[in-house]
Amino acid sequence: MRLRNITGSREMVAENDYVVHEPEQYKGKWNMVFDNDREIHVEIGMGKGKFLTQLALQNPNINYIGIEKYSSVLLRALEKRKEIELSNLYFIRYDAEYLNDIFGKDDITRIYLNFSDPWPKDRHARRRLTSREFLKRYDQCLKKDGEVIFKTDNRVLFDFSLEESKLAGWELKEITFDLHHSEYLEGNVMTEYEEKFVAKGNPICKLIEYRK
Ligand code: SAM
Repeated sequence: MRLRNITGSREMVAENDYVVHEPEQYKGKWNMVFDNDREIHVEIGMGKGKFLTQLALQNPNINYIGIEKYSSVLLRALEKRKEIELSNLYFIRYDAEYLNDIFGKDDITRIYLNFSDPWPKDRHARRRLTSREFLKRYDQCLKKDGEVIFKTDNRVLFDFSLEESKLAGWELKEITFDLHHSEYLEGNVMTEYEEKFVAKGNPICKLIEYRK
């Protein structure tokens, strides 16, 4: 999602109380941000943040962090965020390539990747958020039983992700090529992209991956 650049969005994000500024300082001590030791679930590439906001409302005992690369996109999430009273949801403007600068060993229990950019050219494969390069980053900050949950309507990206997972030695479960007509639909929270693709009739693929 690359919204047009909104003038001043970087400054507005930099001043916002729902954004964790200089997140590197909380590596290994995210409990300081939330003021508790509850588990932390992260969405990478959260876009406008609907999915994570809904989860934070549903699960007050889980802490949520949304990571988004672009200020102009994050700004949309912040507009909605200020209307809701929540103490378990923060956002970070950051490129997930540097995830290990902000999260240390065992900091995260779950990572959500929803409708991640496909980077269709082979030479860009390592930028895909489900590539083995990213799995290595996740391995360094996920708890022992932590998991990555990935949804997409892009079958090529999904097949790539299944392959990368196996090559990286991760385990897979709850794989479906059509989530909305599967046994795994119950409790599903839709993202903005998911709503759009489901309305068009695109099947949604989903997997959960974890280390042995
Ligand atoms: N997850 C949302 C949804 O399902 O509606 C948005 C999906 S959109 C296709 C992908 C989002 O990921 C964009 O907002 C993009 O800016 C963000 N993104 C892509 N690469 C990223 C990265 N390396 N770090 C953080 N965010 C990233």
